[in-house]
Amino acid sequence: MRFSVSLIPTLKEAPVEAHTASHRLMLRAGLIRPLGSGIYTWLPLGLKSLRKVEAIVREEMDAAGAQEVLMPAVQPAELWRESGRWDFYGKELLRLIDRHEREFCFGPTHEEVITDLARRELKSYRQLPIHFYQIQTKFRDEIRPRFGIMRGREFLMKDAYSFDMDAAGLDITYRSMYETYGRIFRRCGLRFRPVEADTGSIGGSASHEFHVLASSGEDVIASCSHCDYAANLEKAASGPLAPPTTTPAPQPLLQVATPGKKTIQEVSAFLQVGIERLVKTLVVEGDGQPYLLLVRGDHELNPIKAAAALGVRQLVVPEPGRIAELTGGLPVGFLGPVGTTLPVLADSALEASNAFVCGANTLDHHLTGVTWERDLPRPRFADLRNVVANDPCPRCAAGRLALDRGIEVGHIFKLGDKYSKALGVTVLDQEGKERTPIMGCYGIGVSRIVAAAIEQNHDDNGIIWPVALAPFEVEILLANPNDPLAKETAETLYADLHAKGIGVLLDDRDERLGIKFKDADLLGCPLRVVAGGRALKEGKVEIQVRKGGDPLQAPVGEAVTTLIARLQSLLAAESQG
Ligand code: ATP
Ligand code: MG
Repeated sequence: MRFSVSLIPTLKEAPVEAHTASHRLMLRAGLIRPLGSGIYTWLPLGLKSLRKVEAIVREEMDAAGAQEVLMPAVQPAELWRESGRWDFYGKELLRLIDRHEREFCFGPTHEEVITDLARRELKSYRQLPIHFYQIQTKFRDEIRPRFGIMRGREFLMKDAYSFDMDAAGLDITYRSMYETYGRIFRRCGLRFRPVEADTGSIGGSASHEFHVLASSGEDVIASCSHCDYAANLEKAASGPLAPPTTTPAPQPLLQVATPGKKTIQEVSAFLQVGIERLVKTLVVEGDGQPYLLLVRGDHELNPIKAAAALGVRQLVVPEPGRIAELTGGLPVGFLGPVGTTLPVLADSALEASNAFVCGANTLDHHLTGVTWERDLPRPRFADLRNVVANDPCPRCAAGRLALDRGIEVGHIFKLGDKYSKALGVTVLDQEGKERTPIMGCYGIGVSRIVAAAIEQNHDDNGIIWPVALAPFEVEILLANPNDPLAKETAETLYADLHAKGIGVLLDDRDERLGIKFKDADLLGCPLRVVAGGRALKEGKVEIQVRKGGDPLQAPVGEAVTTLIARLQSLLAAESQG
């Protein structure tokens, strides 16, 4: 591609709305342009990179034996009513009405459509296992679209769905997808980590997310320093905490004045008591029923774990006004479990606590010296909190948990028979009996990968593409278009690289070399060749690696082989995972 005739609208400054490196750089390098909130046009360079991700995903899915299909983006509401999700999915679902007043949605995911296909086309155990995938535009009316295409409303996803005769079959398919995902992300040159994920309201039996490690990631993942345990914070558990080394001696129950001290920090400072000796009392509503949840002062409630422990579908943390209503007008900020009439559930870390501090249910007062059994009944204990750095690993005795940030780029899920049962898929087994196939589903955020790759690979000057995803592997900078020797060298190199199947961008613009260098840094092609200047007078071109290192010179005649060898060694180093 020739820079002079292409749409590569680079920007000196990043638009103010861009808060992450990838968003800024995708706008500045002219890869994408916004059309509306969370919807973007992919410009030529961005699209090239997107297509590369697609090609890698397609090759690996084909190699794993999945069959590519393309399902409609627009789906009839009836199908979603059959699965029960029309009402449950809420506002993320973009709903449409056609000229006959029939309801549709723009697919945020395709379980219903693939299951409908399966019930029509699958008849016999001989057809199973079978596995379908597609690469397609999805729409989710995200409450907070942000970070550019990272969390768009319209985005490109690879979604796949497998059908097996039984759970043992699904185990094999799931394992194979786990391995396939590893290969895909390694080939993309990403540093990633598979983690255990919450199976949530879909109620499947196992799930893993694949996270690209990046400080700007929206997710927190916990991993063990010693074994291979890793989980999303939503799901991560801690091993049992050692009992506090300084267990306080028994203390009398006292009500103390804490005027205006509502937060844990304020109370801890005011009473001169360590924050871990305080107990936070939280009022929540689970499926409309109020509960009191207790967690240690230095811990945070994990609503997903709490919902599971209470056995409720939906957990809501009510507004202060509603809390006052639910507690019969008790002062928010001074709530506590002593004397409450609400059902109480406490985090397991509190099991060994005694002589703790909590709200007194009286304005401007707290209780100190609170002791289980003596002052209040021992409640039910369950894992209700987010793990924190340095918690013991739940799997091995030796390890401690570390927390990192990640960008979710893939998600695999054992669905079980939820959809196949709801939509009535049956196949005949070897004995001629009707059986319900067991499903798995497997998603990859194809467009999100482009942003995640940039998030992980950039510097102050621009993008540093991994070779596998670079719009072009090589950029040739023609130092001076009016110098016939430079022009001829650049054109020959351009044609030769093309002939070898190397993606190459030729900056043939009538611009100063300084500007070309700046844009080349911003665009981030892995290798850059300068045709011109003193080197060319000596029959050489200068080659630079965008990742860094000293430039090297190669005789014009050896430039192509030198560049190809460089690309291969970069590619090999990047696909280590
Ligand atoms: P998230 O927690 O980030 O909202 P999700 O759990 O809703 O993701 P899935 O339903 O598992 O996502 O979708 C499969 C993949 O699609 C995700 O792993 C992610 O990479 C991608 N994806 C999901 N939502 C978006 C979005 N709004 N923009 C871009 N990619 C997305
Ligand atoms: Mg989501």
